[in-house]
Amino acid sequence: MQPPAIKTTALYVVATPLGNLADITLRAIDVLRAVDVIACEDTRHSRRLLDHYQIHAPAVALHEHNEAEAAQKLIGLLAAGKSVALVSDAGTPGVSDPGARAVAAVRAAGYPVIPLPGPNAAITALSAAGLAAPHFLFVGFLPAKATARRQQIEVFKPIPAALVFYEAPHRIVDTVSDLAELLEPQRTLIVARELTKLFEQIAAMPLIESPAWLASDPNRQRGEFVLLVSAAPPEDTVPADVLRTLKLLLDELPLKQAVKLTAEISGIPKNALYQQALIWKNEKL
Ligand code: SAM
Repeated sequence: MQPPAIKTTALYVVATPLGNLADITLRAIDVLRAVDVIACEDTRHSRRLLDHYQIHAPAVALHEHNEAEAAQKLIGLLAAGKSVALVSDAGTPGVSDPGARAVAAVRAAGYPVIPLPGPNAAITALSAAGLAAPHFLFVGFLPAKATARRQQIEVFKPIPAALVFYEAPHRIVDTVSDLAELLEPQRTLIVARELTKLFEQIAAMPLIESPAWLASDPNRQRGEFVLLVSAAPPEDTVPADVLRTLKLLLDELPLKQAVKLTAEISGIPKNALYQQALIWKNEKL
């Protein structure tokens, strides 16, 4: 038997579509229809989604400029026995969006916080990126100022994980040009633009070619972006003789065993070896 859509006196954190209104879960619709109040990052923006699904609960604003006071308002509602949902303009609240402070305040006040999983631009982009890296690091938005942005890119550069960035159209050219200049040229950039929308585009290219790719068509600079960069090349961190051992063992053994033995022989962490082994395996496919 299905549990009822909601309990009272709880805050429901509800992920909503990135663009395509059909990308909402059945549970999200049930909960949004059942709660007493919906806290929205922008009430007018969310009205389109709420109207589309005939959701009539009153909306209150909870955005980055009023989050502390709005959280107290939500706690007051919960104290009065009401149920509340929290949505942002798109995707998952609290992920490069307001919500985290309200969630912390509600939990500190002793009320349950119940997450409803759903759309998220980073995970959506990763699902179609085809990056074989076993790890990814979600960076989100880089700083707007050039010096701070470039410093952050240098910090993330050696991390053995694919990097995931969010970017807006007015900064896409500068950010891509900094990534291309500061990261290793053989890393792959995947541009995931306007996901789930009419002009969705997902394009992969060597990082070094990305500024020219963006410049060659102004449409490629429009819309909302997730940028994914493949992990730092393991060749830079694994000595050549260890790579040779790994290659020899891979010819004879299953991938996991070859990686494990090479790590034992060389003392190099398994992750770096695993990444390289995956790259070779994918090249053979
Ligand atoms: N909370 C959202 C999530 O769960 O992904 C992120 C909100 S953040 C304010 C907005 C940024 O997310 C955009 O600037 C863009 O980088 C990314 N984004 C949101 N929707 C997108 C889409 N349809 N296609 C590509 N990127 C998107």
